[in-house]
Amino acid sequence: MMDRSTSTTRDVPFFNYRGAFAEIEAPLVAVIRDVISRGAFIMQRDLKEFEAACGAFLGVKHAFGVANATDGLHMALRAAGIKPGDEVIFPSHTMVASPAAVHFAGGVPVPVDIGRDRLIDPELVERAITSRTRFIMPVHVNGRSCDMRGLGELATRYGLQIIEDAAQALGSRFEGRYAGTFGSAGVYSFYPAKVLGCLGDGGLVVTNDDGIAARLHELRDHGRDRDGNTMSWGLNSRLDNLQAAVLHLQFKTYESVIRRRRELAAAYHRSLSDVPELVLPAPPHSDPARLDVYQNYEIEAESRDELREFLKGNGVGTLIQWGGAAVHQISALGFAARLPVTERFFTRCLMLPLNMMVTDDDVRYTVAAIRRFYRR
Ligand SMILES: *Cc1c(COP(=O)(O)O)cnc(C)c1O
Repeated sequence: MMDRSTSTTRDVPFFNYRGAFAEIEAPLVAVIRDVISRGAFIMQRDLKEFEAACGAFLGVKHAFGVANATDGLHMALRAAGIKPGDEVIFPSHTMVASPAAVHFAGGVPVPVDIGRDRLIDPELVERAITSRTRFIMPVHVNGRSCDMRGLGELATRYGLQIIEDAAQALGSRFEGRYAGTFGSAGVYSFYPAKVLGCLGDGGLVVTNDDGIAARLHELRDHGRDRDGNTMSWGLNSRLDNLQAAVLHLQFKTYESVIRRRRELAAAYHRSLSDVPELVLPAPPHSDPARLDVYQNYEIEAESRDELREFLKGNGVGTLIQWGGAAVHQISALGFAARLPVTERFFTRCLMLPLNMMVTDDDVRYTVAAIRRFYRR
């Protein structure tokens, strides 16, 4: 396996943080200068305009810029009325942030296995429902929407609320409707490496429920209502006005970002779908019910660790999501669950470079290296 590297190696980093904003540096700097010149830092016009743009894009009544998606999930659960001890069912294939939000909101996170589509499986959710279950937290991992029809039916049947972790899925759709807009509330992340990223931390919570919106408004801003009166205990978890301005600039061309990401996913699929050692994500257009935004291109691979080393030796960066462990496998957190599909998945999963800096040549080069590794 050692000698299959080529002489013409290329550098394809998994994600190049230093280059992430290079293409728009000049307009970004202009936006930052403008915000500074107006002294507009907290809860100003840029935040309101960005929230309005997101709300209009997603077709929701209320959108709140928040400090990050983890806070957003925490506040969404509290705004939706979570009580101490309430069980919240979530898929273990997610970032620890999803159950951490449940924990800090006073709930009990209950992990379930993933289904064949690697997302939360309504059948397994139903089996995990107890008399204490109050919420389902679907996670639209990798920018692919969960089965919101199945989950919605369950929620209605058992009287549960849905809080969506759409941190990876801004713009993803299920049956024409945007991920994050199905439940009581949905939450998006603007971490720099997310499909829409800012120059630090940021997030958004959306809801169509006026009561939840009123509580969110207070929770994120010291308990203050729209008139500035302190109505309850609150947190400080606002999206910086500067970050909102930075996000709004990029959001204007967001559709083209989604298009490009889907193009890259299609290119990977075209040139790898005949490799029997791999399981690939569903390609664009393969499911009429779904529009994926490909936050990540996560494959399953035989000899995953050897493949990863081989690619590294050829200059191709990859990543194993969540540091290589599902949430229930993090021993410090004390989950007792055994989730066989997720556990097998974590011995095989690997993410290939897919972002706006990846070129068609990068994909060709990466694919060629993978094919050399498997001698295909
Ligand atoms: C990134 C991410 C989060 C956390 O988002 P932050 O904005 O960094 O708090 C939560 N859930 C999922 C699925 C994520 O990918």
